[in-house]
Amino acid sequence: MTVDVSTARHPFLDGKPKRMLIDGKWLEAASGKTFETINPSTGEVLARVAEGDSEDIDRAVEAARRAFNGPWSKVKPFERQNLLLKLADLVDKHFEELASLDTLDMGAPISRTKGSRLRAVGMLRYYAGQATAIHGETIENSLPGDYVSYTLKEPVGVVGAIIPWNGPLTATIWKIGPALATGCTVVLKPAEEAPLTPLRLAELCLEAGVPPGVVNVVTGYGETAGAALSSHMDVDKVAFTGSHITGQKIIQASAGNLKRVSLELGGKSPDVVFADADLDAAVPGASMAVFANSGQICSAGTRLFVERRIYEEFTSRVADFSKTLRVGNSSNPDTQIGPLVSPEQLERVTGYLAIGRQEGARPLSGGARLTDGDMANGYFVPPTVFADVRDDMRIAQEEIFGPVISAIPFDDIEEVIARANATTFGLGSGLWTRDVTKAHKLAKGIRAGSVWINCYQAMDPAVPFGGYKMSGYGRESGKQHVEEYLNVKAVWIKTG
Ligand code: ADP
Repeated sequence: MTVDVSTARHPFLDGKPKRMLIDGKWLEAASGKTFETINPSTGEVLARVAEGDSEDIDRAVEAARRAFNGPWSKVKPFERQNLLLKLADLVDKHFEELASLDTLDMGAPISRTKGSRLRAVGMLRYYAGQATAIHGETIENSLPGDYVSYTLKEPVGVVGAIIPWNGPLTATIWKIGPALATGCTVVLKPAEEAPLTPLRLAELCLEAGVPPGVVNVVTGYGETAGAALSSHMDVDKVAFTGSHITGQKIIQASAGNLKRVSLELGGKSPDVVFADADLDAAVPGASMAVFANSGQICSAGTRLFVERRIYEEFTSRVADFSKTLRVGNSSNPDTQIGPLVSPEQLERVTGYLAIGRQEGARPLSGGARLTDGDMANGYFVPPTVFADVRDDMRIAQEEIFGPVISAIPFDDIEEVIARANATTFGLGSGLWTRDVTKAHKLAKGIRAGSVWINCYQAMDPAVPFGGYKMSGYGRESGKQHVEEYLNVKAVWIKTG
């Protein structure tokens, strides 16, 4: 097996415990505690990492507040733009290293992480553009007398950013980018499963010249460091990506100072295949809409609705396709499907495989953990297709976050719109058809933040992404994202 990246060769993995970044300094946790981060392909320990908790969050928030009240607020849009462009160049320069760190720490195949260069660098360049595009409005008013009224857009202040493990590099950029563009400061809490890339990116922030306290990274657990950040009385906004259960806790924790909250949560997204679709494109498209990143994508199209007259043919083609995907060590350049991120995630996903069978779903492929050869110590689950799934089954209702398709037959368009919407979530959705009328009807009818037609998971820094219903609120990417980091102030001048 050709291994493209190895723990031994990765320059960031030097055997030393990883410290966190507070006020421009690399510090141990105040408690002195550390935790291990593990390569999910092999089960081996990659590094020990500082285990921050509420004391460290306090230190980081103080630093972020000082920076926000201090020189950072005087930094002009051009300079913030330059910082973002420098950071983009550094991410581009060190991209291979960042990509392989994501691969080692969370298990996404190296072919996938290396493929995200355009997106990662492009996001930073997009936010750089936004830094000089912030503006208020002059608004005509109807008051008697002479008044001028206009709005100022101002940074919200100290942002607590809490991210998941399923794409650490882009998740970090998605939080730091708009903060730097708008003049906010950030305390970022990476996921405990994958803290390494955010720490390496924080090094690059310093190298780019981001001033002390503007970007802080506190590593640690959700229940301690994450909870302290979301309930902190001096944090102005929390930007959270993760599960809806944690999202609900974040909202409750935000009540103390009524901080602003934006949430990008889970999904159980429908992907609808009509009989008139280009099936040669729909088979791999609908498959990878779920199997990419081992199903660990919040907008994965896991409820696969297939028009009844092609149901048997299409589901068996998807199952055949799933059997061609190469599962293995994510550092191998040939691997298409890596491991799940952790033993907990493995237990969760294999639990759902058992539930699917008990509920009467018919497995067409996959269905059990893989432990052959060098997969023995990793957390591997092969792509799995369940046929004969009914809407009321748990595998059709609950987010599995693994490579599992629940394939469900349907008969007509009105029916499938209603059934696609019969979920508490509303993040992604897809449809495959050659009929523009059907495509438009579904695009309007589905209650979800994104609709992909004859494709799935297309993303761009300029196009907003986010949820309806229990998939959260607020948008990331696009102009709306930048607005999430800005306050609007109305100014009145009596001129008469
Ligand atoms: P998952 O179950 O996929 O790990 P979570 O929503 O639990 O998703 O985790 C996403 C992020 O939220 C992680 O950084 C995690 O540490 C953090 N987190 C978990 N619990 C809490 C909490 N109670 N308060 C704040 N953050 C939390």
